[in-house]
Amino acid sequence: MTGKTTTVGIIGGSGVYESGLFEGKKVHHVSTPYGAPSSPIEEGEMDGVRVLFLARHGKGHVIPAHRVNYRANIDALKSLGTDVIVTINSVGSLKEELPPGKFVLPNQFIDWTKRRESTFYDGGRTYHVSTADPVCPRLEKAALVVAQRQGTDVASGKTYVCVEGPRFSTRAESRLFRTFADVIGMTLVPECPLAREREICYLPICMVTDYDVWADHPVEASEIVRVLTDNVRRVRDWLKVLVPELARAPGDCPCPHALEHAGL
Ligand SMILES: [Zn+2]
Repeated sequence: MTGKTTTVGIIGGSGVYESGLFEGKKVHHVSTPYGAPSSPIEEGEMDGVRVLFLARHGKGHVIPAHRVNYRANIDALKSLGTDVIVTINSVGSLKEELPPGKFVLPNQFIDWTKRRESTFYDGGRTYHVSTADPVCPRLEKAALVVAQRQGTDVASGKTYVCVEGPRFSTRAESRLFRTFADVIGMTLVPECPLAREREICYLPICMVTDYDVWADHPVEASEIVRVLTDNVRRVRDWLKVLVPELARAPGDCPCPHALEHAGL
């Protein structure tokens, strides 16, 4: 794919329930073969680019991460013409050098979830898509160029471990996770591989809210809320510049051809 994006889908996470990025022209109430998506989908425009916004946890965080209908969300965005998805995710830090407030672009994940519908190919024809590089390399590169130009401090090339939740980790789990991952969250899987199955380019933007329990840094809920609020303000500012650039990101990537040679 070479800069032919027609529509960018934004999936907002904790604290981001309305885009606040554009004046919504339309609201789509979509139904899919997998059920209803988490929220109605807002449609608008950013710098000439068609944009769709979906609140992953519903409006007002009524759907916890382990109950999100990820298949319906991805399928609904695809049915409205989305070919690029950028997502916003709150994460815990597993590394000292990734403090609260840091933006992280993971490009690998480890799936520690246990009971989620994680594929569109659950019967009938079987496809085994490659997730060797689960994040779109074209979008990742474009995001890093924009971050550098804007002076946005971003850690890239990190690994995200996705846990089932809703509980947080035990100390033993947290110590184990930090031996093979950098950040921990509950939403990247199966959202990211489902986007690949629908041949959509996918880029997750993660914002660190706190150190995970390994660090033994007790934090007050009010402190987490303060960091989250500040993160949301900063990510919105960044997205205003980033989204149009992602739509025009040059180069090639394998995402739009993910199903070629993947079928049995
Ligand atoms: Zn791609």
